[in-house]
Amino acid sequence: MQRIAVFPGSFDPITRGHESVIKRALPLFDRLIVAIGENGDKNTFFPLDCRLKWLHQIFEQESRITIKTYTGLTIDFCRSEKAGFILRGLRTSADFEFERGIGQMNKMMYPDVETVFLLCAPEYASLSSSIVRDIIRHKGDVSQFVPEGIIL
Ligand code: ADP
Repeated sequence: MQRIAVFPGSFDPITRGHESVIKRALPLFDRLIVAIGENGDKNTFFPLDCRLKWLHQIFEQESRITIKTYTGLTIDFCRSEKAGFILRGLRTSADFEFERGIGQMNKMMYPDVETVFLLCAPEYASLSSSIVRDIIRHKGDVSQFVPEGIIL
């Protein structure tokens, strides 16, 4: 049985922190689905087509990574993709508290899916999409925070 993991997120925009988690997780799984969750109630800064384009651009050489979008519950998406794992990155204790609640609820709803957490690499501990968006709003240079080749 293939080990398939879903890495869900908004990727608004993708950062080097996301990229690092994805690359570090790849050896653990046979396939990794990087999935943009489309939540009607969440206004994003970048449109979906841009966020998708960047993900494709970054991971186009990696045959074991698939880029998808989904609506609804992440756990239902995992089920439809026959994925046994949800991958999440942890930066801070606040991330942990947030993820613990979701992870444990998911476990109750669908016990076969395990949530796997990777501690973020130390150099990316303070990096978040929201800070990158703030820098962009104020016309700052974010090139060191987003994957190479991504022009925002
Ligand atoms: P969400 O809206 O689901 O939080 P994000 O795109 O912000 O989506 O994040 C997706 C995942 O990437 C989450 O597990 C988040 O903790 C993780 N992540 C975000 N930034 C970093 C970072 N700098 N280092 C490691 N993981 C990160």
